[in-house]
Amino acid sequence: MMACKHLAPGTQCIVKRDHTKPKANELAFHKGDLITIMAACENKGWYRAKHNTTGEEGLISAFALREREAIRVDNKLSLMPWFHGKISGREAVQQLQPSEDGLFLVRESIRYPGDYVLCVSFNQDVIHYRVIYKDRMLSIEDSFFFHNLMDMIEHYTHQQGMICTKLVKAKKRHGAKSAELELAKAGWLLSMQQVTIEERIGEGEFGAVFRGEYMGQKVAVKNIKCDVTAQAFLAETAVMTTMQHKNLVRLLGVILQDGLYIVMEFMSKGDLVNFLRTRGRSVIETRQLLEFALNIAEGMDYLESKKLVHRDLAARNILISADNIAKVSDFGMAKVDPKQQDSAVLPIKWTAPEALKHNKFSTKSDVWSYGILLWEVFSYGRAPYPKMSLKEVSEGVEKGYRMAAPEECPPAVYTLMGSCWDVDPGKRPSFKKLKEKLVKELKGLQDAKLY
Ligand code: ADP
Ligand code: MG
Repeated sequence: MMACKHLAPGTQCIVKRDHTKPKANELAFHKGDLITIMAACENKGWYRAKHNTTGEEGLISAFALREREAIRVDNKLSLMPWFHGKISGREAVQQLQPSEDGLFLVRESIRYPGDYVLCVSFNQDVIHYRVIYKDRMLSIEDSFFFHNLMDMIEHYTHQQGMICTKLVKAKKRHGAKSAELELAKAGWLLSMQQVTIEERIGEGEFGAVFRGEYMGQKVAVKNIKCDVTAQAFLAETAVMTTMQHKNLVRLLGVILQDGLYIVMEFMSKGDLVNFLRTRGRSVIETRQLLEFALNIAEGMDYLESKKLVHRDLAARNILISADNIAKVSDFGMAKVDPKQQDSAVLPIKWTAPEALKHNKFSTKSDVWSYGILLWEVFSYGRAPYPKMSLKEVSEGVEKGYRMAAPEECPPAVYTLMGSCWDVDPGKRPSFKKLKEKLVKELKGLQDAKLY
């Protein structure tokens, strides 16, 4: 029962019913609205909450709330459910029956491969508009140009332009589920009006990362413009909706505009490599290094419990919060489909030998990467296998070569690294075991201080 469960501040909830005549102090809302929990009230079952669209604050009963749902990863969410791929004009006409003004789909031209055709039902007829691809932009008429099909469809939903009618209803490809509808239903769809975007703070492989604000809270926003990449990232996002842990970077929601915007909690101290390098040995104590290591092991233990393999665990993918908590980010490679691993993009120096050679990724290959990450942490952000080429590393490791301990690394920690680098994945420790060892090490440090 929803009402019995305690909702932590920051939790996003969906309202289950209308409440349009609030008493003093109460929040007004409509069914389907999104609100953010601010605090639990003394009066049990009531919360102080902020309405995500109106920005108003007030009291709300837990009975009116449900928490957001996780998006099922096997859900065939599509950013372009109206895209039917290579079908003929004739098939398109069949798809658009019975006719309905404004019903539309997009297909790839058979005659001009690579070109698209927008097909619109109007006046019992289907009209085909060729989409021209010029200078990396798409257009139907000469006055409007778009980065991708999503933007184009969005435009003609609002403006008729030279088309016969505004686009009203998408004809979905068989089996495709509209990402927009599913995300909205589950409570993860945010709108651009709710988010302000400030300066650029990072450049990812697939898009820029910005600092921003959402509901009075600092956030990080990643924008992926290319529609194909955005579609791939949607899977990553779906994974993130199912994962909630204090040591994983939290997803707040997504915006479907200019491709895809992923809104995450803001980690003000940036990535771990940079954090360690810019401060160094003189500023950061061993105790802090151990705490980071423990944070990460806890996050990974949680991922393990959810049977998710990260595949790209490295210090560059650990982010640090304002209060010095390390959190695992970048589920980008936590691929739902393990077959599609391109060996050209593997982070060789972090990847376990069996994963490199036989594509055998598992929690135990994540443990190997964790060992490398420990080495990075205790060497204050040095690149692993210094002065060795990728070829030397993969060949050396195969023959049993392992890195030496970083300078002043506690022997127990180096022993842990060694255990993560066992050739036999079965002999590597679990993240739970790693956690226990680190707790013990931290305790030892504390006891030593006392004497
Ligand atoms: P990629 O994995 O494609 O390189 P990232 O998601 O790691 O992209 O983002 C690139 C950079 O943006 C990071 O190194 C970090 O500096 C910054 N960044 C990413 N996410 C956040 C966040 N939630 N909070 C603060 N900074 C972030
Ligand atoms: Mg990254």
